[in-house]
Amino acid sequence: MKVLLLGGTGEARSLAQVLTSAGVEVVSSLAGRTTDARLPVGEVRSGGFGGVDGLVAWLRAHPVDAMIDATHPFAATMTAHSVAAAGQAGVPLLILRRPGWTAQAADRWHRADTIDAAAALLPTLGSRAFLTIGRQGLQAFATTGLWTLARCVDPPEPPPTWCTLILARGPFDVAGELDLMRQHRIDVLVTKDSGGDMTAAKLEAARRMDIPVVLIERPPLPADIPTAHTSAEVLAWLGDRPR
Ligand code: NAP
Repeated sequence: MKVLLLGGTGEARSLAQVLTSAGVEVVSSLAGRTTDARLPVGEVRSGGFGGVDGLVAWLRAHPVDAMIDATHPFAATMTAHSVAAAGQAGVPLLILRRPGWTAQAADRWHRADTIDAAAALLPTLGSRAFLTIGRQGLQAFATTGLWTLARCVDPPEPPPTWCTLILARGPFDVAGELDLMRQHRIDVLVTKDSGGDMTAAKLEAARRMDIPVVLIERPPLPADIPTAHTSAEVLAWLGDRPR
């Protein structure tokens, strides 16, 4: 059995390992925009496909038994393309998504539907913000009037002049997040509801500092496409597929 695994996440890397160990041939696909990306085991292709048509053409040129979309919960364009291309090429598609984060009793979380809504909310919540939303969407916070610390994996282009920027890649631990947030006297945190353990320490730090958190909601999952939360569920789904 051979699958195309759309990746760029820790889950996709783990899944590539699990599937390969189970004897499934995996081609992992990365967007190719992150410098120094951690590569999964097995074959890797890199770079965009060229929209839905490009992905359909790739699937026709490289027949696979199934496609697994294990991209980030906020990679909505790629997921819309995987759904459309799977339909056109007649390839079974499964989406692997980690669950979102869950608030604890004393948490002061404010959910925002969009990045713009999060930026509009911010001045009502604090004066020194920590943005952990990646480099895309950063510009929406340029005019909030808050002193801002932004953390990204790769440098935004052009470099923002209105905030203090740090470049770092998770996983992060609670002690480090507390140090960073106290050092910069952060009083409000902004994050996407990415879920997972790699970047959850900032939420614990915010909890201990008793500061509000703005959580940007995930884009909705496409209807009618099966979804898994774990590698085991993916294996079970593949096991049910005809070969
Ligand atoms: P996106 O906005 O949904 O996709 C933009 C374009 O990037 C897609 O149309 C596609 O180009 C290309 N692309 C995205 N993922 C790809 C993949 N796995 N293989 C080949 N091409 C891919 O994606 P994004 O939010 O920029 O994320 C890019 C990558 O970073 C994804 O792999 C995602 O899993 C990872 N990532 C994203 C976030 C986040 O917060 N968005 C966080 C961590 C990791 P074509 O149209 O040319 O095919």
